[in-house]
Amino acid sequence: MKPKKNIPQNSICILGIPFDQNSSFQQGPAFAPECIRKSYFSPSSNLWSEKGLDLESINHLYDLGDIDFTKGTDNFNLITHSVKNAIDQECRLICLGGDHSITFPIIHAHAQKYDRLNILHLDAHPDLYDSLDGNIYSHACPFARIMEQKLAARLVQAGIRTMNGLQRKQAEKFGVEVNEMKDGTHWMEALEFHGPVYVSIDLDCLDPAFAPGVSHHEPGGMTTRQVLDIIHQFRGKVIGADIVEYNPDRDLNSMTSMVAAKLLKELIAEIYEDTI
Ligand code: MN
Ligand code: MN
Repeated sequence: MKPKKNIPQNSICILGIPFDQNSSFQQGPAFAPECIRKSYFSPSSNLWSEKGLDLESINHLYDLGDIDFTKGTDNFNLITHSVKNAIDQECRLICLGGDHSITFPIIHAHAQKYDRLNILHLDAHPDLYDSLDGNIYSHACPFARIMEQKLAARLVQAGIRTMNGLQRKQAEKFGVEVNEMKDGTHWMEALEFHGPVYVSIDLDCLDPAFAPGVSHHEPGGMTTRQVLDIIHQFRGKVIGADIVEYNPDRDLNSMTSMVAAKLLKELIAEIYEDTI
């Protein structure tokens, strides 16, 4: 992965978004991007995808670095602008969060480029609150903002195990397709999208046994294998993705960082296969 400013067409780019000011419970995800990069390059593993792609052989794979939040005041505008800059140069972008609030400004940029965007959202939480603790931009709200602004044609959620009355009403209102953990995995085989797909992975979709480095330990989640199988198996063209909510302060021996890095490798490989 090379640093790059001018991006050739059909590139795959990584952008760090070290922002956790909309976390409702604990901060820490602002320190995630550098940890995930370190795990990505860790000599404890290698740089091949499971399906046999040598990630080091990809010519146009670039690391755009991290967004610098020290100067600006309108953080969401800065995120949207940075993402737009990248995708306007015809790259497929994978963003490393950051808390999950960043997905709203990221999607804001993608929706200007792609008509009828599909979103596949893996999370313990539906993140559909109209507002949480008085903050409509909380990391518990991004998909309410996305759906009310009609930025996505279809939102499919999986891993969900914290549904409550308020959010169930929101899911019905917005026509969200919610696959709850309690209902099993029968939906996985049939998962198919027509048109562009954006994949948003909140690492707490995984069971805390597999990914302890998140702020919200919600038992009863997915295995790492299940998440990998979803990434490998669903039918649709991935045009962008994010991996959010990694909290290094909560991690054990970088276990969760390695999970995030592995998901990053597999997402890069899936996107690459869609571009060739
Ligand atoms: Mn989330
Ligand atoms: Mn979550």
